[in-house]
Amino acid sequence: MDSRDRRLGMDRAISRRDFLSGVSVAIGASLLPACASDGGSVADSPKLRYPPSLGGMRGSHPGSFEVAHSTVRGRRWSAGEAAEHYDLVVVGAGISGLTAAYIYRRDVDPDARILILDNHEDFGGHALRNEFELDGRLFIGYGGTMFIEAPATYPEVSKQVIRELGIDVARNDEFYDAGLFASRGLGNVSFFDRESFGTDYLARGEHGFGDSLDDLPLSDAAKAELQRLFADRVDYLDGMTTEERRNVLETHSWRSFLQTYGGFGDEVLTYVQAMPQGYWTIGADALPAWMAAQDGYPGFAGKGAGNSDDDGGDWGGFYFPDGNASVARLLVRKLVPQVAPGDSMEDIVTARFDYSRLDRPGSRVRIRLSSTVVELGHRNGSLDADVDVTYVHDRKAHKVSAGKVVWAGYHAMLPYVCPDIPDEQVAQQRNSVRSPLVYTNVLIRNWRSLVNVGMRRAYCPGSFFQSVMFTHPVSMGDYRFARSPDEPVILHLQHVPLEPGLSAPEQFRAGRQALLATPFETFERNVRDQLGRMLGQGGFDPARDIAGITVNRWPHGYAYSIDTESADVAWDPERWHHERRPWVEARQRVGNIAFANTDAASNAMTESAIEEAHRAVHDLLTASKT
Ligand SMILES: Cc1cc2nc3c(=O)[nH]c(=O)nc-3n(C[C@H](O)[C@H](O)[C@H](O)COP(=O)(O)OP(=O)(O)OC[C@H]3O[C@@H](n4cnc5c(N)ncnc54)[C@H](O)[C@@H]3O)c2cc1C
Repeated sequence: MDSRDRRLGMDRAISRRDFLSGVSVAIGASLLPACASDGGSVADSPKLRYPPSLGGMRGSHPGSFEVAHSTVRGRRWSAGEAAEHYDLVVVGAGISGLTAAYIYRRDVDPDARILILDNHEDFGGHALRNEFELDGRLFIGYGGTMFIEAPATYPEVSKQVIRELGIDVARNDEFYDAGLFASRGLGNVSFFDRESFGTDYLARGEHGFGDSLDDLPLSDAAKAELQRLFADRVDYLDGMTTEERRNVLETHSWRSFLQTYGGFGDEVLTYVQAMPQGYWTIGADALPAWMAAQDGYPGFAGKGAGNSDDDGGDWGGFYFPDGNASVARLLVRKLVPQVAPGDSMEDIVTARFDYSRLDRPGSRVRIRLSSTVVELGHRNGSLDADVDVTYVHDRKAHKVSAGKVVWAGYHAMLPYVCPDIPDEQVAQQRNSVRSPLVYTNVLIRNWRSLVNVGMRRAYCPGSFFQSVMFTHPVSMGDYRFARSPDEPVILHLQHVPLEPGLSAPEQFRAGRQALLATPFETFERNVRDQLGRMLGQGGFDPARDIAGITVNRWPHGYAYSIDTESADVAWDPERWHHERRPWVEARQRVGNIAFANTDAASNAMTESAIEEAHRAVHDLLTASKT
């Protein structure tokens, strides 16, 4: 540790720094809570921890993915005879898997015995809750799935589940303090970093337009281009036929379109590169121009200056303080009522869950965490027989049998674990390449420095974290968001590891590798360095003001299906609606195994997680009738 590290506070004892530094993977596995793989109870385990309050490296945390990766690399596990039998086994305790269990009991058999297996220490999958405690006060953040976006557009089956969970999306305004930041004069800013733009500069207003452009660290030519880009009045394809326009948009990335047809130079292209990352987890170099146009990014003559990219609170949605982790918690409380007190969407926010009750003998629904499914097959290969499910917990393989199985994990793993799936279907499942991303939560002791610089949300085109913002200003039930800048808040920082220049799927794969090789310490140093440089002029001192950091890494983040047969920018789910949709073939039921998860819809959204769970359960009903 050098003097710069000390100035940043790398030696400070913050809450929840991962004592494993996020890299001691082998040790991590042995520290996981024991669970009831032998039919016993997690309550028996002396090692039980409270997952939401674990900090350091979360999301795909050390100990959660190694078994899956070794299985994909060819390792085989031997488990002996099935020790337990269930009516339904669900693989994956994300929103889709939890919903599948819920719908099975609702629509098929209210007394069904169900086992839900998940490789993580917590349930919820991407819908993960992060808790911090400072001076006896609880702070809640979202480690993934941020909010219920545009619930009015949800399919009816998804709306119904949301309603049945007691979530009244019409009441968002009662809890979400939409005026809080504006009343303090806070707005959007852009942070130009010295490595990319020659000097550190925080520009107030969206894209530096709140103040004059004069001080931006750009050449005069680039400032004029930036103004032209965001004024967005020029039609660069003027004179072309509809067919010619379509051809240009379908064969260019947004960046190459701006460069080739708009004549924009490197400085502006560097500025816009990360703009789509918050929403699409890909940069301008690989975002298809047709998608940029459809989404209202600038350059297409008057369609607006880009979407709001990140959570700006004005999208029409429903926000719990922990994002959609509350949806997962409501589902779990329905499935295993003894796990937590309460019965409303308000009391779920602070309800303390008793994890020792998730997997109790005698309970009709059991949720077994830290358990990776490594093999899945109909007994004797007969598609109308029971399904044997092998999972690894605490480095030992165990087997259970099930009348039915819903796979609500990643489809790309199926080719390695389920020999019953026909080859053509396996080929389609391999198409599912997820994008990596990281949500980092940073608890700071007060937000006076943000008031001093006027920042609510920052776009940081060249920095390690491409965006920095407040978490949802939501007060619900017994939980209160900071009203005064003197109170602590959690900041949300996003990092998307990519390799610009490659195709989207290649970037996702490269980013995933890079992410798994990046230790917590690197994230912490970047948090301290970037916040110090952005907010220092407002009085922020990273060594003094940072009270806790939790990094939620998601190497397998958003579900996308990529057309591997097409050129790098032909990443076109819309077009596939009419032509070739690999995920539809990939999700076809195989005997008593049905497939849920957002991969089944090629749409990384909660409504799809729920809708696909509903479809998968009803696919199983078809199996029963045939
Ligand atoms: C950072 C982030 C932010 C997001 N924000 C939003 C948002 O604001 N709104 C929105 O609607 N959507 C958002 N999404 C999309 C999100 O993926 C979905 O909304 C939804 O939470 C996905 O649920 P799921 O159950 O399909 O998948 P997941 O949440 O991925 O759950 C699948 C679970 O199965 C487990 N699993 C996989 N294989 C195995 C195995 N072999 N054995 C055992 N377990 C296994 C996985 O580890 C995981 O825990 C976000 C996603 C990410 C990554």
